[in-house]
Amino acid sequence: MVDKNGNLIVISAPSGTGKTTIVKQLMLKNKNIRASVSYTTRNMRPNETNGLDYVFVTLQIFESMIIQNMFLEFANVFGHYYGTPTKETLEALNQGHTIILEIDWQGAEQIRMRRPESISIFLLPPSKEELKKRLTNRATDSSEQIELRFQEAIKDIEQYNNFDRVIVNHDIDTTCEEIMSFVNNSHTSEPAVNKKALAVIKSFI
Ligand code: 5GP
Repeated sequence: MVDKNGNLIVISAPSGTGKTTIVKQLMLKNKNIRASVSYTTRNMRPNETNGLDYVFVTLQIFESMIIQNMFLEFANVFGHYYGTPTKETLEALNQGHTIILEIDWQGAEQIRMRRPESISIFLLPPSKEELKKRLTNRATDSSEQIELRFQEAIKDIEQYNNFDRVIVNHDIDTTCEEIMSFVNNSHTSEPAVNKKALAVIKSFI
């Protein structure tokens, strides 16, 4: 069995689950935690800052970075490329930081292969209805986009079994506590998916 440690943490979740909020809160509560800043080819949203939320690059630049093997993982999500830069991530790990990768399940799969000692966590919304509500409340998306993201959420959730721990995000503080407790004790004998999480999963698939 691979000896897992809490230095590299992958957090995946369907769009609308609240993972960005959770990651921000984890960093506020734990000064040693850093979130890796991904590269992406998607357009910058009005509330985002280049270099902080993502590094926004052209398709040409992204493809040249793929060829130069500059990504620890990368994937195409909703028609755009997203990737974790190897150099920055390894540097931060070498400095002793705990690094969170907020990435999709395809990227999580690549990290599992390349860094088997990493910990992977899958976050679930509290319910189908709550996810629909959260996706709809994001005024930036059209109804087609909302439906697309909802269908994608179902596909994402089908991947739950590949993660070390599945956590239902009912409220920010409890979710952060559950994540930190698992990271600090990943050898726990508790099942990766508890009854509560299984009930949510079953309602989707
Ligand atoms: P958004 O465009 O809403 O910020 O992110 C869309 C999806 O891309 C989310 O599921 C997010 O976790 C994922 N994502 C963001 N950065 C990366 C990355 O570097 N690699 C991978 N594989 N997925 C990412």
